Amino acid sequence: MMIPPPALATLQWILGPDRLCRDVSLAPFTTFKLGGAADWYADVRTADELAAVTRTAREHHLPFFLLGTGANVIVGDHGYRGLVIHNRARDLRLDQENHRLWAESGAVVYPDLIERAVAAGLSGLEHYVGIPSTVGGALWQNLHFLSPPPERERTMFLEEVVHSADILTEEGERKTVGIEYFDFGYDYSILHDRDDVVLAATFQLSSERSRARMREIMDANLQWRAERHPPLDTEPSVGSIFKKIEGIGAGRLIDECGLKGMRIGGAMITHRHANIFVNVDEAQTADVCALIELARDTVERETGYRLETEIDFIGEFAPPTDAAPTKVLKDPDLVTAAERAKAS
Ligand SMILES: Cc1cc2nc3c(=O)[nH]c(=O)nc-3n(C[C@H](O)[C@H](O)[C@H](O)COP(=O)(O)OP(=O)(O)OC[C@H]3O[C@@H](n4cnc5c(N)ncnc54)[C@H](O)[C@@H]3O)c2cc1C
Repeated sequence: MMIPPPALATLQWILGPDRLCRDVSLAPFTTFKLGGAADWYADVRTADELAAVTRTAREHHLPFFLLGTGANVIVGDHGYRGLVIHNRARDLRLDQENHRLWAESGAVVYPDLIERAVAAGLSGLEHYVGIPSTVGGALWQNLHFLSPPPERERTMFLEEVVHSADILTEEGERKTVGIEYFDFGYDYSILHDRDDVVLAATFQLSSERSRARMREIMDANLQWRAERHPPLDTEPSVGSIFKKIEGIGAGRLIDECGLKGMRIGGAMITHRHANIFVNVDEAQTADVCALIELARDTVERETGYRLETEIDFIGEFAPPTDAAPTKVLKDPDLVTAAERAKAS
């Protein structure tokens, strides 16, 4: 994609000479570590820059995509024809008196937000420890996780601690909105249906829980993740691939069809968790897409359930790899959460 000279001049003026780049590979900026390059890449460092770059892109009708930690996106092998705006606006401000934490939308939930809140003795965010996400991505998704141990009796949602947010609306207005604006649901906020951009958010926290209890919850949740999820640094993934099916579980269906360990190219369905696919060896997005088709078709044929993906697909995709899948046996040293539960 060409950026017309007036738009280019404005973007360069906002970002300086080094933070607007051509042909940038997006793989390093996603947790799956795959996908092609963006024609243009803007590295934004403040909420004001984010608003100004977004406004410029809109005024000049440039296709753009807003990227956080890339933990919920799969980028096509042929890359993105447009401008990827990488949100690295990470300023935080604490209002100790009112128990509020304000964060720019590129701040990462863990460690940035959680460590700051816990150090100040403020509780509410610690449940989300270990989940890769910016504040903007977390509002987009309504980040969720199980309530504290030992009960773990319900799913907790980020909306429970969102007080308000500064947004740039799709109509171009910059304003502060309350929680009701987002229409939060399971894996849902209004951001799925409107092109608003979250610039910053304020969280309403509480001082009722001790720091020791917060640390206990964080340790337990990190351990829960380590026992069930592949570690991102050695087995990159995008978390769950398919949406939850109430009362049944997408992962359980995939497991029942015997698909754990299926591998196509460099992508594999991990033995740790059947709804998580991992990049085991320089996977192409086409390998992942072929695995998604394999899982969806097999589950539909054998159980009648049609799985739906829960991630954002961006850019241009090559056809799914047509190589036959192979089955990789489980490493005997790996103890899955299910095996651990059976043994205890
Ligand atoms: C190992 C692993 C474990 C996970 N576990 C969980 C879990 O327990 N619970 C859970 O809920 N999720 C989980 N996820 C999913 C993921 O962490 C969340 O979806 C997260 O909120 C994504 O945030 P992000 O910053 O990476 O967003 P991205 O993936 O970068 O973007 C996701 C979407 O949000 C939009 N977006 C990003 N920033 C903004 C903004 N400022 N304004 C408007 N839109 C914006 C993007 O344009 C895109 O459409 C997991 C993912 C992984 C890889």
